Amino acid sequence: MDDLKYGTRDKRGNYSPNQPAGTAPVFIWPPKPLEFLKWIPSYFLPYNALFFLSALAWWHWVIPPVETMQHLAWGWVLKLFAVNAVAVFFWYFAFEVQLYVRRTQGNRFKYNGKFPSETPSDVFWFKSQNLDNMLRAFLSGVPIWTGAQVIVLSAFANGYAPWLTFAANPVYLGLLCLVVPVIHEFHFFCVHRLIHTPFLYKWVHSVHHNSINPSPWSSLSMHPVEHLLYFAATFYHLIIPSNPIIAMYQLHYAGFGAVPGHVGFDKVELTENTAVDSHAYIHYLHHKYFEVNYGDGLIPIDKWLGTFHDGSKQADEQMKARYLAKKARANAQRAAKTPAK
Ligand SMILES: [Zn+2]
Ligand SMILES: [Zn+2]
Repeated sequence: MDDLKYGTRDKRGNYSPNQPAGTAPVFIWPPKPLEFLKWIPSYFLPYNALFFLSALAWWHWVIPPVETMQHLAWGWVLKLFAVNAVAVFFWYFAFEVQLYVRRTQGNRFKYNGKFPSETPSDVFWFKSQNLDNMLRAFLSGVPIWTGAQVIVLSAFANGYAPWLTFAANPVYLGLLCLVVPVIHEFHFFCVHRLIHTPFLYKWVHSVHHNSINPSPWSSLSMHPVEHLLYFAATFYHLIIPSNPIIAMYQLHYAGFGAVPGHVGFDKVELTENTAVDSHAYIHYLHHKYFEVNYGDGLIPIDKWLGTFHDGSKQADEQMKARYLAKKARANAQRAAKTPAK
């Protein structure tokens, strides 16, 4: 496909789509009913439906009977860990192998003109972004993901969390399924904004931001503290009346759902003439500029707080003005604290 019909490429080979990054037409005023109706299919397909189905599959084929989960034992916990690790490997690798190993679409629609393997850096373990990101995903990402899963399943199995059944509460639980991405967005925004405060950024979140040019393996490349905060989204289902399948959907939404935002391409080509939007631009801009787009745009919190960047020159100017104002405030505070001679 000719990506230049949909965007432009600068001298360094970086691609920018013509269509600015946008937020979902949901939590907006005045409402835009027509845009909302057009947006609905993209809310379900393909990812949200896929992650719900994967949660169902786990429930039926991977997660042990309730009686087993009433007692902690290495057997079922390690089985969960192994299945999660294999699933992460294949899901992440599916994107990685097509776009970054075989490079089936070259750098068409690729935001950053370079591939991570072309730029070894000391910030990464073994100077390799791919190896570093992969090791972090498996050494702390999957274990902490599994830990959160074990805590939630044990709590349900032992009656510590309010467990509603789909048979008795189909409407409420159906609505709760629809809200899972909203819970994720709210939780992700809050913890993400928190770890962008200076101390936590330096010691925790900078690990994730080492990948300025993110690729699929960057999705779970985080400090263990960030993994803990990130997967804690599933704990909402221990407080609100819910069901373990929906709690697993919340977990899969976080664990598997991190990939599309880090895919690094604006569109993924399926055939010579067809491609699907990745919706990765918002989070790509976050990796590029750091202090914009803390959320993924389902709830337009960044717009409300003035930190949204849609990739346009105008947004660039606003970001620079914010940065200068912040610097001026910091200088004024420093000057106020310095005793006069
Ligand atoms: Zn990221
Ligand atoms: Zn960040």
